[in-house]
Amino acid sequence: MVQGDGVSGRRGTAREIVVAGGGLPGLALALALRQALGEAVRVTVCDPAFGRTDAPPDLRAYAVAAAARRMLARLGVWDAVSPGAQPIRQMVITDSRLADPVRPTFLTFEGEVAEGEPFAHMIEGGGLLAALREAAVASGVVLEPSPVAAAVPEPDRITARLPDGRSIRADLVVAADGARSRLREAAGIGWVGWSYPQSGIVATVAHERDHEGRAIEHFLPSGPFAVLPLPPGGSLGHRSSIVWTERQSEVPALLGGGPDEALMEVERRFGLGLGRLALESPLKAYPLSFGIARRFGAKRLLLLGDAAHVIHPIAGQGLNLGLRSAAALAEALTDTMRLGLDPGGPEALETYERSRRFDTLAMGAATDGLNRLFSNDALPVRLARDLGLGLVDRLPGLKRLFIREAAGLRGRQPRLMRGEAL
Ligand SMILES: Cc1cc2nc3c(=O)[nH]c(=O)nc-3n(C[C@H](O)[C@H](O)[C@H](O)COP(=O)(O)OP(=O)(O)OC[C@H]3O[C@@H](n4cnc5c(N)ncnc54)[C@H](O)[C@@H]3O)c2cc1C
Repeated sequence: MVQGDGVSGRRGTAREIVVAGGGLPGLALALALRQALGEAVRVTVCDPAFGRTDAPPDLRAYAVAAAARRMLARLGVWDAVSPGAQPIRQMVITDSRLADPVRPTFLTFEGEVAEGEPFAHMIEGGGLLAALREAAVASGVVLEPSPVAAAVPEPDRITARLPDGRSIRADLVVAADGARSRLREAAGIGWVGWSYPQSGIVATVAHERDHEGRAIEHFLPSGPFAVLPLPPGGSLGHRSSIVWTERQSEVPALLGGGPDEALMEVERRFGLGLGRLALESPLKAYPLSFGIARRFGAKRLLLLGDAAHVIHPIAGQGLNLGLRSAAALAEALTDTMRLGLDPGGPEALETYERSRRFDTLAMGAATDGLNRLFSNDALPVRLARDLGLGLVDRLPGLKRLFIREAAGLRGRQPRLMRGEAL
Protein backbone atom coordinates (compact mmCIF):
# COMPACT_ATOMS: atom_id res chain seq x y z
CA MET A 1 0.00 0.00 0.00
CA VAL A 2 1.45 3.41 -0.99
CA GLN A 3 1.49 6.13 1.63
CA GLY A 4 1.87 9.92 1.53
CA ASP A 5 5.05 11.13 3.08
CA GLY A 6 5.42 8.16 5.41
CA VAL A 7 5.64 4.45 4.67
CA SER A 8 2.97 1.81 4.64
CA GLY A 9 2.95 -0.83 7.34
CA ARG A 10 1.98 -4.50 7.27
CA ARG A 11 -1.73 -5.00 7.85
CA GLY A 12 -3.02 -8.35 9.03
CA THR A 13 -0.99 -11.24 7.68
CA ALA A 14 -1.05 -10.33 3.98
CA ARG A 15 2.34 -10.27 2.30
CA GLU A 16 3.28 -7.27 0.17
CA ILE A 17 5.20 -7.52 -3.10
CA VAL A 18 6.23 -4.64 -5.36
CA VAL A 19 7.01 -5.33 -9.03
CA ALA A 20 9.08 -2.51 -10.57
CA GLY A 21 8.34 -2.72 -14.30
CA GLY A 22 4.99 -3.42 -15.95
CA GLY A 23 6.26 -5.11 -19.12
CA LEU A 24 4.86 -8.52 -20.06
CA PRO A 25 6.90 -10.66 -17.58
CA GLY A 26 6.28 -8.25 -14.67
CA LEU A 27 2.52 -8.15 -15.25
CA ALA A 28 2.33 -11.94 -15.77
CA LEU A 29 4.06 -12.50 -12.42
CA ALA A 30 1.77 -10.04 -10.58
CA LEU A 31 -1.35 -11.63 -12.07
CA ALA A 32 -0.17 -15.18 -11.30
CA LEU A 33 0.53 -14.32 -7.65
CA ARG A 34 -2.88 -12.72 -7.09
CA GLN A 35 -4.69 -15.56 -8.84
CA ALA A 36 -2.90 -18.15 -6.72
CA LEU A 37 -2.99 -16.41 -3.33
CA GLY A 38 -5.82 -13.86 -3.50
CA GLU A 39 -5.97 -11.50 -0.55
CA ALA A 40 -3.04 -13.25 1.12
CA VAL A 41 -0.70 -11.19 -1.07
CA ARG A 42 -0.90 -7.54 -2.05
CA VAL A 43 0.86 -6.80 -5.34
CA THR A 44 1.68 -3.33 -6.67
CA VAL A 45 3.20 -2.94 -10.12
CA CYS A 46 5.00 0.40 -10.58
CA ASP A 47 5.76 1.65 -14.10
CA PRO A 48 5.88 5.21 -15.45
CA ALA A 49 4.46 3.81 -18.70
CA PHE A 50 1.03 3.32 -17.02
CA GLY A 51 0.56 7.08 -16.94
CA ARG A 52 1.70 7.83 -20.49
CA THR A 53 -0.81 8.32 -23.24
CA ASP A 54 1.66 9.78 -25.74
CA ALA A 55 4.24 6.96 -25.63
CA PRO A 56 5.40 5.77 -29.08
CA PRO A 57 3.76 2.41 -29.90
CA ASP A 58 5.79 -0.77 -29.40
CA LEU A 59 5.88 -2.11 -32.95
CA ARG A 60 7.20 -5.49 -31.88
CA ALA A 61 5.14 -8.57 -32.52
CA TYR A 62 6.11 -11.65 -30.57
CA ALA A 63 6.40 -15.30 -31.48
CA VAL A 64 4.66 -16.68 -28.39
CA ALA A 65 5.73 -20.31 -28.01
CA ALA A 66 3.22 -23.07 -27.15
CA ALA A 67 4.43 -23.24 -23.53
CA ALA A 68 3.92 -19.48 -23.06
CA ARG A 69 0.49 -19.76 -24.69
CA ARG A 70 -0.46 -22.48 -22.17
CA MET A 71 0.60 -20.11 -19.39
CA LEU A 72 -1.46 -17.24 -20.83
CA ALA A 73 -4.44 -19.60 -21.11
CA ARG A 74 -4.05 -20.66 -17.46
CA LEU A 75 -3.86 -16.97 -16.46
CA GLY A 76 -7.13 -16.37 -18.34
CA VAL A 77 -5.79 -13.90 -20.92
CA TRP A 78 -5.48 -16.15 -23.96
CA ASP A 79 -9.16 -15.85 -24.92
CA ALA A 80 -8.81 -12.06 -24.99
CA VAL A 81 -5.77 -12.11 -27.30
CA SER A 82 -6.47 -15.17 -29.47
CA PRO A 83 -8.60 -13.30 -32.08
CA GLY A 84 -5.46 -11.27 -32.87
CA ALA A 85 -3.08 -14.25 -32.78
CA GLN A 86 -1.75 -15.83 -35.96
CA PRO A 87 -0.69 -19.50 -35.72
CA ILE A 88 2.74 -20.20 -37.22
CA ARG A 89 2.15 -23.29 -39.35
CA GLN A 90 5.50 -23.53 -41.09
CA MET A 91 9.00 -22.14 -40.66
CA VAL A 92 11.26 -21.77 -43.71
CA ILE A 93 14.99 -21.01 -43.56
CA THR A 94 17.01 -19.65 -46.49
CA ASP A 95 20.68 -18.71 -46.68
CA SER A 96 21.94 -16.33 -49.36
CA ARG A 97 23.55 -13.00 -50.17
CA LEU A 98 21.44 -9.91 -50.74
CA ALA A 99 22.17 -9.79 -54.48
CA ASP A 100 21.53 -13.52 -55.10
CA PRO A 101 18.68 -13.87 -57.64
CA VAL A 102 17.16 -16.89 -55.85
CA ARG A 103 17.05 -17.81 -52.18
CA PRO A 104 17.25 -21.60 -51.91
CA THR A 105 15.33 -23.13 -49.01
CA PHE A 106 17.65 -25.12 -46.77
CA LEU A 107 15.35 -26.14 -44.00
CA THR A 108 11.61 -26.24 -43.31
CA PHE A 109 9.78 -27.01 -40.08
CA GLU A 110 6.11 -27.66 -39.83
CA GLY A 111 3.73 -29.34 -37.51
CA GLU A 112 1.91 -29.05 -34.26
CA VAL A 113 3.07 -29.94 -30.78
CA ALA A 114 -0.34 -31.46 -30.04
CA GLU A 115 -3.56 -31.92 -31.99
CA GLY A 116 -4.66 -28.41 -33.07
CA GLU A 117 -1.82 -26.72 -31.14
CA PRO A 118 0.82 -24.96 -33.31
CA PHE A 119 4.35 -24.61 -31.91
CA ALA A 120 3.95 -20.79 -31.75
CA HIS A 121 1.60 -17.89 -32.48
CA MET A 122 2.47 -14.36 -33.57
CA ILE A 123 0.90 -11.69 -31.37
CA GLU A 124 1.27 -7.91 -31.52
CA GLY A 125 2.82 -6.59 -28.30
CA GLY A 126 0.29 -3.80 -27.67
CA GLY A 127 -2.74 -6.13 -27.52
CA LEU A 128 -1.01 -8.60 -25.22
CA LEU A 129 0.13 -5.86 -22.85
CA ALA A 130 -3.40 -4.37 -22.68
CA ALA A 131 -4.95 -7.79 -21.95
CA LEU A 132 -2.45 -8.52 -19.18
CA ARG A 133 -2.97 -5.08 -17.61
CA GLU A 134 -6.74 -5.55 -17.63
CA ALA A 135 -6.57 -9.03 -16.12
CA ALA A 136 -4.08 -7.85 -13.47
CA VAL A 137 -6.37 -5.01 -12.38
CA ALA A 138 -9.38 -7.37 -12.32
CA SER A 139 -7.44 -9.72 -10.01
CA GLY A 140 -6.72 -6.89 -7.57
CA VAL A 141 -3.19 -5.92 -8.63
CA VAL A 142 -2.58 -2.19 -8.06
CA LEU A 143 -0.99 -0.36 -11.02
CA GLU A 144 1.05 2.64 -9.88
CA PRO A 145 2.01 5.06 -12.70
CA SER A 146 5.45 5.82 -11.33
CA PRO A 147 8.97 4.39 -11.50
CA VAL A 148 10.63 2.93 -8.42
CA ALA A 149 13.54 5.29 -7.76
CA ALA A 150 15.25 3.08 -5.17
CA ALA A 151 14.72 -0.14 -3.23
CA VAL A 152 16.18 0.05 0.26
CA PRO A 153 16.45 -3.27 2.14
CA GLU A 154 16.12 -3.54 5.93
CA PRO A 155 16.48 -6.77 7.89
CA ASP A 156 12.84 -7.86 7.58
CA ARG A 157 11.35 -5.50 4.95
CA ILE A 158 12.32 -3.52 1.87
CA THR A 159 11.18 0.01 1.02
CA ALA A 160 10.42 0.93 -2.59
CA ARG A 161 10.89 4.69 -2.87
CA LEU A 162 8.97 6.61 -5.52
CA PRO A 163 10.41 9.85 -6.99
CA ASP A 164 7.61 12.02 -5.52
CA GLY A 165 8.55 11.12 -1.95
CA ARG A 166 5.99 8.38 -1.41
CA SER A 167 7.15 4.85 -0.62
CA ILE A 168 5.89 1.29 -0.28
CA ARG A 169 7.16 -1.06 2.44
CA ALA A 170 7.14 -4.61 1.16
CA ASP A 171 8.47 -8.09 1.83
CA LEU A 172 10.02 -8.25 -1.62
CA VAL A 173 10.74 -6.04 -4.64
CA VAL A 174 10.91 -7.72 -8.05
CA ALA A 175 12.99 -5.66 -10.49
CA ALA A 176 11.43 -6.19 -13.95
CA ASP A 177 12.69 -2.82 -15.19
CA GLY A 178 14.31 -3.95 -18.43
CA ALA A 179 17.82 -4.60 -19.73
CA ARG A 180 19.32 -1.43 -18.27
CA SER A 181 17.79 -2.13 -14.85
CA ARG A 182 18.71 0.65 -12.43
CA LEU A 183 17.55 -1.40 -9.48
CA ARG A 184 19.90 -4.25 -10.46
CA GLU A 185 22.78 -1.83 -10.68
CA ALA A 186 21.93 -0.12 -7.37
CA ALA A 187 21.82 -3.54 -5.66
CA GLY A 188 25.39 -4.15 -6.88
CA ILE A 189 24.45 -7.21 -8.95
CA GLY A 190 27.07 -7.75 -11.67
CA TRP A 191 26.23 -8.17 -15.36
CA VAL A 192 28.13 -10.27 -17.89
CA GLY A 193 27.38 -9.28 -21.44
CA TRP A 194 28.21 -7.41 -24.61
CA SER A 195 26.54 -5.33 -27.30
CA TYR A 196 26.24 -6.74 -30.80
CA PRO A 197 27.37 -4.43 -33.61
CA GLN A 198 23.82 -4.93 -34.92
CA SER A 199 20.36 -3.43 -34.46
CA GLY A 200 17.00 -5.15 -34.80
CA ILE A 201 14.78 -3.11 -37.15
CA VAL A 202 11.09 -3.89 -36.81
CA ALA A 203 8.10 -2.86 -38.92
CA THR A 204 4.72 -4.12 -40.10
CA VAL A 205 4.50 -4.85 -43.82
CA ALA A 206 1.33 -5.34 -45.89
CA HIS A 207 1.41 -7.71 -48.88
CA GLU A 208 -0.87 -8.91 -51.64
CA ARG A 209 -0.68 -12.67 -51.13
CA ASP A 210 -1.61 -14.75 -48.12
CA HIS A 211 1.39 -15.97 -46.09
CA GLU A 212 -0.59 -19.10 -45.10
CA GLY A 213 0.94 -18.99 -41.65
CA ARG A 214 4.49 -19.32 -42.98
CA ALA A 215 7.37 -17.66 -41.11
CA ILE A 216 10.51 -17.13 -43.18
CA GLU A 217 13.99 -16.50 -41.87
CA HIS A 218 16.41 -15.27 -44.57
CA PHE A 219 19.96 -15.56 -43.28
CA LEU A 220 21.73 -12.64 -44.95
CA PRO A 221 25.38 -11.63 -44.36
CA SER A 222 24.44 -8.74 -42.02
CA GLY A 223 22.19 -11.02 -39.96
CA PRO A 224 18.78 -12.70 -40.13
CA PHE A 225 15.81 -11.04 -41.81
CA ALA A 226 12.65 -12.62 -40.39
CA VAL A 227 9.20 -12.36 -41.98
CA LEU A 228 6.62 -13.34 -39.37
CA PRO A 229 2.93 -13.83 -40.24
CA LEU A 230 0.24 -11.61 -38.70
CA PRO A 231 -3.56 -11.93 -38.97
CA PRO A 232 -5.14 -10.52 -42.18
CA GLY A 233 -5.56 -6.75 -42.53
CA GLY A 234 -3.62 -3.72 -43.73
CA SER A 235 -3.81 -1.83 -46.99
CA LEU A 236 -3.15 -4.91 -49.18
CA GLY A 237 -5.22 -7.46 -47.25
CA HIS A 238 -2.38 -9.46 -45.62
CA ARG A 239 0.29 -8.51 -43.09
CA SER A 240 3.60 -9.70 -41.69
CA SER A 241 5.94 -8.35 -39.06
CA ILE A 242 9.61 -8.06 -39.97
CA VAL A 243 12.58 -8.33 -37.63
CA TRP A 244 15.58 -7.25 -39.65
CA THR A 245 19.01 -7.60 -38.08
CA GLU A 246 21.32 -5.03 -39.65
CA ARG A 247 24.86 -3.75 -39.06
CA GLN A 248 24.61 -0.79 -36.71
CA SER A 249 26.70 1.38 -39.05
CA GLU A 250 24.00 1.02 -41.77
CA VAL A 251 21.05 1.87 -39.53
CA PRO A 252 21.11 5.72 -39.54
CA ALA A 253 21.00 5.78 -43.37
CA LEU A 254 18.24 3.15 -43.52
CA LEU A 255 16.07 4.98 -41.00
CA GLY A 256 16.97 8.47 -42.21
CA GLY A 257 15.67 8.06 -45.77
CA GLY A 258 12.08 8.70 -46.85
CA PRO A 259 9.30 6.05 -46.88
CA ASP A 260 10.00 5.15 -50.53
CA GLU A 261 13.65 4.35 -49.84
CA ALA A 262 12.67 2.39 -46.75
CA LEU A 263 10.17 0.33 -48.76
CA MET A 264 12.77 -0.33 -51.46
CA GLU A 265 15.27 -1.64 -48.89
CA VAL A 266 12.59 -3.86 -47.33
CA GLU A 267 11.63 -5.21 -50.78
CA ARG A 268 15.27 -6.14 -51.54
CA ARG A 269 15.30 -8.38 -48.48
CA PHE A 270 11.69 -9.53 -48.29
CA GLY A 271 11.63 -10.86 -51.87
CA LEU A 272 8.63 -11.00 -54.20
CA GLY A 273 7.05 -14.22 -52.97
CA LEU A 274 4.05 -12.45 -51.38
CA GLY A 275 3.45 -9.96 -54.22
CA ARG A 276 3.37 -6.18 -53.89
CA LEU A 277 4.44 -4.71 -50.54
CA ALA A 278 3.53 -1.59 -48.54
CA LEU A 279 4.92 -0.37 -45.22
CA GLU A 280 2.20 -0.20 -42.56
CA SER A 281 4.47 1.42 -39.96
CA PRO A 282 7.74 3.34 -39.86
CA LEU A 283 10.94 1.34 -39.31
CA LYS A 284 12.03 1.26 -35.68
CA ALA A 285 15.48 0.09 -34.55
CA TYR A 286 16.39 -1.57 -31.26
CA PRO A 287 20.06 -1.97 -30.24
CA LEU A 288 20.88 -5.66 -29.69
CA SER A 289 22.86 -7.13 -26.85
CA PHE A 290 23.48 -10.26 -24.83
CA GLY A 291 23.72 -10.29 -21.07
CA ILE A 292 22.99 -12.23 -17.93
CA ALA A 293 23.02 -11.10 -14.30
CA ARG A 294 25.66 -12.76 -12.12
CA ARG A 295 22.92 -13.47 -9.57
CA PHE A 296 19.16 -13.32 -10.00
CA GLY A 297 18.69 -11.57 -6.68
CA ALA A 298 20.08 -9.75 -3.68
CA LYS A 299 18.62 -8.97 -0.26
CA ARG A 300 14.80 -8.87 -0.71
CA LEU A 301 15.22 -8.02 -4.41
CA LEU A 302 14.77 -10.49 -7.31
CA LEU A 303 15.38 -9.86 -11.02
CA LEU A 304 12.90 -10.77 -13.75
CA GLY A 305 12.73 -10.57 -17.57
CA ASP A 306 15.33 -8.52 -19.42
CA ALA A 307 16.61 -7.18 -16.07
CA ALA A 308 17.92 -10.73 -15.47
CA HIS A 309 18.79 -11.84 -19.01
CA VAL A 310 18.87 -10.37 -22.53
CA ILE A 311 19.33 -12.49 -25.64
CA HIS A 312 19.56 -11.91 -29.41
CA PRO A 313 16.11 -11.99 -31.09
CA ILE A 314 17.37 -14.44 -33.77
CA ALA A 315 15.12 -17.20 -32.42
CA GLY A 316 12.33 -14.95 -31.05
CA GLN A 317 12.83 -16.34 -27.54
CA GLY A 318 13.54 -13.32 -25.27
CA LEU A 319 10.00 -12.78 -24.09
CA ASN A 320 9.37 -16.52 -23.88
CA LEU A 321 12.38 -16.79 -21.59
CA GLY A 322 11.06 -13.88 -19.50
CA LEU A 323 7.61 -15.49 -19.22
CA ARG A 324 9.21 -18.78 -18.22
CA SER A 325 11.11 -16.95 -15.49
CA ALA A 326 7.85 -15.31 -14.38
CA ALA A 327 6.20 -18.75 -14.19
CA ALA A 328 9.14 -20.20 -12.22
CA LEU A 329 9.25 -17.21 -9.87
CA ALA A 330 5.48 -17.28 -9.29
CA GLU A 331 5.85 -20.98 -8.41
CA ALA A 332 8.78 -20.41 -6.03
CA LEU A 333 7.06 -17.48 -4.27
CA THR A 334 3.67 -19.20 -4.01
CA ASP A 335 5.19 -22.39 -2.56
CA THR A 336 7.25 -20.32 -0.11
CA MET A 337 4.28 -18.26 1.08
CA ARG A 338 2.00 -21.32 1.38
CA LEU A 339 4.57 -22.78 3.78
CA GLY A 340 4.27 -19.59 5.81
CA LEU A 341 7.82 -18.54 4.88
CA ASP A 342 9.00 -15.05 3.99
CA PRO A 343 8.91 -14.39 0.19
CA GLY A 344 11.91 -12.07 0.63
CA GLY A 345 13.94 -14.76 2.40
CA PRO A 346 16.69 -16.97 0.97
CA GLU A 347 14.45 -20.00 0.17
CA ALA A 348 12.53 -18.36 -2.70
CA LEU A 349 15.71 -16.82 -4.17
CA GLU A 350 17.55 -20.17 -4.07
CA THR A 351 14.68 -22.08 -5.69
CA TYR A 352 14.30 -19.41 -8.39
CA GLU A 353 18.02 -19.19 -9.11
CA ARG A 354 18.36 -22.99 -9.27
CA SER A 355 15.40 -23.41 -11.62
CA ARG A 356 16.41 -20.68 -14.07
CA ARG A 357 20.22 -20.39 -14.21
CA PHE A 358 20.98 -23.32 -16.53
CA ASP A 359 18.05 -22.80 -18.91
CA THR A 360 18.87 -19.10 -19.28
CA LEU A 361 22.57 -19.72 -19.93
CA ALA A 362 21.77 -22.46 -22.45
CA MET A 363 19.32 -20.27 -24.39
CA GLY A 364 21.71 -17.28 -24.28
CA ALA A 365 24.61 -19.37 -25.59
CA ALA A 366 22.47 -20.96 -28.32
CA THR A 367 21.17 -17.63 -29.67
CA ASP A 368 24.63 -16.04 -29.49
CA GLY A 369 26.14 -19.01 -31.36
CA LEU A 370 23.42 -18.96 -34.02
CA ASN A 371 23.94 -15.24 -34.60
CA ARG A 372 27.71 -15.66 -34.96
CA LEU A 373 27.29 -18.62 -37.29
CA PHE A 374 24.71 -16.98 -39.54
CA SER A 375 25.92 -13.35 -39.59
CA ASN A 376 29.09 -14.53 -41.34
CA ASP A 377 29.78 -14.39 -45.04
CA ALA A 378 33.04 -16.40 -45.14
CA LEU A 379 32.65 -19.12 -47.79
CA PRO A 380 33.80 -22.11 -45.67
CA VAL A 381 31.40 -21.08 -42.89
CA ARG A 382 28.53 -20.71 -45.35
CA LEU A 383 29.23 -24.11 -46.90
CA ALA A 384 29.44 -25.82 -43.51
CA ARG A 385 26.23 -24.29 -42.18
CA ASP A 386 24.29 -24.98 -45.38
CA LEU A 387 25.44 -28.59 -45.22
CA GLY A 388 24.28 -28.69 -41.59
CA LEU A 389 20.87 -27.18 -42.44
CA GLY A 390 20.44 -29.65 -45.31
CA LEU A 391 21.25 -32.56 -42.98
CA VAL A 392 18.78 -31.43 -40.33
CA ASP A 393 16.15 -31.09 -43.06
CA ARG A 394 16.51 -34.80 -43.80
CA LEU A 395 16.22 -35.95 -40.18
CA PRO A 396 12.58 -35.86 -39.02
CA GLY A 397 13.50 -36.93 -35.45
CA LEU A 398 15.90 -34.02 -35.02
CA LYS A 399 13.39 -31.63 -36.56
CA ARG A 400 10.75 -32.75 -34.05
CA LEU A 401 13.26 -32.04 -31.28
CA PHE A 402 13.89 -28.51 -32.61
CA ILE A 403 10.13 -27.87 -32.85
CA ARG A 404 9.67 -28.89 -29.20
CA GLU A 405 12.58 -26.60 -28.26
CA ALA A 406 11.04 -23.67 -30.18
CA ALA A 407 7.70 -24.44 -28.51
CA GLY A 408 9.40 -24.21 -25.10
CA LEU A 409 8.36 -27.76 -24.28
CA ARG A 410 11.74 -29.45 -23.79
CA GLY A 411 12.99 -30.10 -20.28
CA ARG A 412 11.08 -29.51 -17.06
CA GLN A 413 8.41 -26.82 -17.30
CA PRO A 414 7.13 -24.62 -14.46
CA ARG A 415 3.54 -25.60 -13.56
CA LEU A 416 1.94 -22.61 -15.31
CA MET A 417 3.68 -23.52 -18.57
CA ARG A 418 2.27 -27.03 -18.33
CA GLY A 419 -1.12 -25.32 -18.18
CA GLU A 420 -1.51 -26.32 -14.50
CA ALA A 421 -2.63 -24.15 -11.60
CA LEU A 422 -0.01 -22.88 -9.15
C1 LIG B 1 13.83 -6.37 -32.18
C2 LIG B 1 13.37 -7.30 -31.10
C3 LIG B 1 12.47 -8.34 -31.41
C4 LIG B 1 12.05 -9.24 -30.42
N1 LIG B 1 11.21 -10.26 -30.77
C5 LIG B 1 10.86 -11.20 -29.84
C6 LIG B 1 9.99 -12.32 -30.17
O1 LIG B 1 9.53 -12.51 -31.30
N2 LIG B 1 9.68 -13.23 -29.18
C7 LIG B 1 10.18 -13.10 -27.93
O2 LIG B 1 9.92 -13.98 -27.09
N3 LIG B 1 10.98 -12.03 -27.58
C8 LIG B 1 11.33 -11.08 -28.48
N4 LIG B 1 12.12 -10.03 -28.13
C9 LIG B 1 12.54 -9.86 -26.73
C10 LIG B 1 11.48 -9.14 -25.89
O3 LIG B 1 11.12 -7.91 -26.52
C11 LIG B 1 12.00 -8.81 -24.48
O4 LIG B 1 12.61 -9.95 -23.92
C12 LIG B 1 10.86 -8.38 -23.57
O5 LIG B 1 10.22 -7.24 -24.10
C13 LIG B 1 11.39 -8.05 -22.16
O6 LIG B 1 10.35 -7.56 -21.34
P1 LIG B 1 10.71 -6.82 -19.97
O7 LIG B 1 9.38 -6.42 -19.39
O8 LIG B 1 11.63 -7.64 -19.15
O9 LIG B 1 11.52 -5.51 -20.38
P2 LIG B 1 10.98 -4.22 -21.10
O10 LIG B 1 10.06 -4.59 -22.22
O11 LIG B 1 12.18 -3.39 -21.40
O12 LIG B 1 10.07 -3.48 -20.00
C14 LIG B 1 10.61 -2.88 -18.86
C15 LIG B 1 9.53 -2.02 -18.23
O13 LIG B 1 10.06 -1.46 -17.02
C16 LIG B 1 9.68 -0.08 -16.95
N5 LIG B 1 10.67 0.58 -16.09
C17 LIG B 1 11.93 0.98 -16.40
N6 LIG B 1 12.54 1.49 -15.30
C18 LIG B 1 11.65 1.39 -14.27
C19 LIG B 1 11.69 1.71 -12.88
N7 LIG B 1 12.78 2.26 -12.32
N8 LIG B 1 10.60 1.47 -12.12
C20 LIG B 1 9.50 0.92 -12.66
N9 LIG B 1 9.40 0.57 -13.98
C21 LIG B 1 10.46 0.81 -14.76
C22 LIG B 1 9.64 0.41 -18.38
O14 LIG B 1 8.78 1.53 -18.52
C23 LIG B 1 9.09 -0.84 -19.11
O15 LIG B 1 7.69 -0.83 -19.20
C24 LIG B 1 12.54 -9.10 -29.10
C25 LIG B 1 13.44 -8.06 -28.78
C26 LIG B 1 13.85 -7.18 -29.77
C27 LIG B 1 14.83 -6.07 -29.41
